[in-house]
Amino acid sequence: MRQPVIFCDFDGTVTEKDNIIAIMNEFGPEGWDGLKEAVLNRTISIREGVGKMFSLLPVTSKKEIVEFAVRNARIRHGFQEFLDYASKEGIPVYIVSGGIDFFIEPIIQQFGPIDGVYCNSSDFSGKTIKIEWPNSCDDQCSNDCGCCKPSIMRKLEQTGAYKIVIGDSVTDLEAAKKADFVLARDYLKDKCEEWEIPHRPFETFYDCIEALKTETGVKG
Ligand SMILES: [Mg+2]
Ligand SMILES: [Zn+2]
Repeated sequence: MRQPVIFCDFDGTVTEKDNIIAIMNEFGPEGWDGLKEAVLNRTISIREGVGKMFSLLPVTSKKEIVEFAVRNARIRHGFQEFLDYASKEGIPVYIVSGGIDFFIEPIIQQFGPIDGVYCNSSDFSGKTIKIEWPNSCDDQCSNDCGCCKPSIMRKLEQTGAYKIVIGDSVTDLEAAKKADFVLARDYLKDKCEEWEIPHRPFETFYDCIEALKTETGVKG
């Protein structure tokens, strides 16, 4: 068996819902609905849409936003047990997320071990929140992803690794196409069926543990 490596999404996967949408719904800055529509219609890229949405929020609301995000986020059942299982089996787990560091880190900090968190970062030195893109697309991707999951996989994967992608949405699809095996829910599950990508549906991380046991041939 090749060495398995897990690339796991955050919003809608580790957490039950999307945190950016929840933050925008709660703090409701002028003009955010239009930006959401433009991203969904693909009139603007995810990177442009997310950057503009956060630029509508003053830096002074950071504490309030973080407190809201931590209070609001519900972690999907079995996440810690899943990390324990992967750790015991020597399987690295990377979180790859189109979310932002300032709310992901406080939500995820009590869980572990995690081998790395790859997401967008933020700058609070101006008047409004500025999003930065340390994981933007490499020369093999032209989608203007913001946080480019296929690029991160190319950077992290060791030759011959057995790549497992866990996710739920459109931003996971390109990563899923590069994976050896996918654990999918919601939109990603439908797309995996459509593209005939080998996958299994999941609802909790206990489902993911069971799937790993079968898929990686480990009985533990
Ligand atoms: Mg997601
Ligand atoms: Zn990309």
